[in-house]
Amino acid sequence: MRVVEGRLYRFSDYLRLRYPFKVWKLPVDAGFTCPNRDGTKGWGGCTYCDNRSFSPPARDRAVELRRQIEHGLVRRRRSGPGRAIVYFQAYTNTYGAIDELRRLYDTALAFPEVVGLAIATRPDCLPEGVLDLLSEMTRRTGVWLEIGVETTHDAILASLNRAHTVADVEDAVRRARGRGFEIVGHLIFGLPGETRAMMLETVRRVSELGLDAVKLHHFYVAKATPLEKAFHRGEIQVLTFPEWIELAADVVERLPASLYIERAAGELSNEWLVAPRWGKSGTEVWAAIEAELERRGSRQGNVSACGRHSVEVRHGDVPQV
Ligand code: SF4
Repeated sequence: MRVVEGRLYRFSDYLRLRYPFKVWKLPVDAGFTCPNRDGTKGWGGCTYCDNRSFSPPARDRAVELRRQIEHGLVRRRRSGPGRAIVYFQAYTNTYGAIDELRRLYDTALAFPEVVGLAIATRPDCLPEGVLDLLSEMTRRTGVWLEIGVETTHDAILASLNRAHTVADVEDAVRRARGRGFEIVGHLIFGLPGETRAMMLETVRRVSELGLDAVKLHHFYVAKATPLEKAFHRGEIQVLTFPEWIELAADVVERLPASLYIERAAGELSNEWLVAPRWGKSGTEVWAAIEAELERRGSRQGNVSACGRHSVEVRHGDVPQV
C-alpha cells in the first residue's frame, strides 16, 4: 500500500505513484465542436466560453492532430525525458460518431511516447457507446474522462446557458463509474450569482459523486464572451487572489482525501484574459493554498461536508501499473 502524505493530494503526486517516469499533459484541439454551439442543445455556448482562447481552430482533423502532438512532444522534450497524456481539450471531445472518435484517439495512441488520453466533455455527451469505447481504451492506455460539472446549482447552470442540468452530471458519473478509467470533475468557483454557501454545497454534492479527481477553477472573464460585456458594465465581479486562496483552502478541506486535484485555479493566456489579472503562476497558486492550509493547521479532507473537523486524514491509494 502506498500513501501520499501532504496537505493536499495533487495530480503530480498521483502521476509519480502511477508512472515510473515524468508525464506531461499535452493539450490538443481535435476539431470538435459543441452541442451548445451548433444548435443541438443551444446556440452561442456557455456565457463564459470562448474556445478560441484555448487553441486555434483545427483544419484537417487527424492530420492536424498528429501535427499538434508532434510539435507538442518536440517542445516538451526540451525539458527532459518523459511521456505524455494527450489532452483533448477544446470544445466537446466525445461529440461525434464512434468511428471518428476511435480514429482520433488512435491517432494520439500511435505515438510511442503517449501513455494516456484525457478527454474533456459535457455530461450530456456520454452515450453508452462512448463510455464503452473509453473503457475499451483502458486496455491500451491510461484514460481520464473530464466532465464539465462547474456547479451543482441548476439556476446557475441555466444563467450560464450551460444547457444541461445537475441531473445530467449525476447520471453521467453514475454510468461512467467502474469502467476502468478515471473520472475528473471540472468545477468553477466564484460564478456570478453564487454565494460562498452555494459553492461549499457544490463541494459537498461533488464529494458524494464518486469522482477520482477534480479541477478547481476560479471564475474568470475571457475576451469575446457575453460575460465580458457584463463585467465592463460592472454587473459581475471576480475574486481577488487572497479571496481565491481562502476559498480554495475551504474547498480543499472539504474534498475527500482520496481524490486528487488537477488544477488549483483556472488558467488563460494574457491575450484572452480580461479579469482577474493576478499575475501569479500555477506554482505560486498551489504554494499559496498549501501555505494557507499550513497556517490553519489543516489539510485536504480535514473538514467534513457538514463542516466538522476530522482528527486524522491520509490520502488514498492510487493504482499501480
Ligand atoms: S464551455 Fe464547453 S460546453 Fe460550454 S460552450 Fe464552451 S465548449 Fe461548449
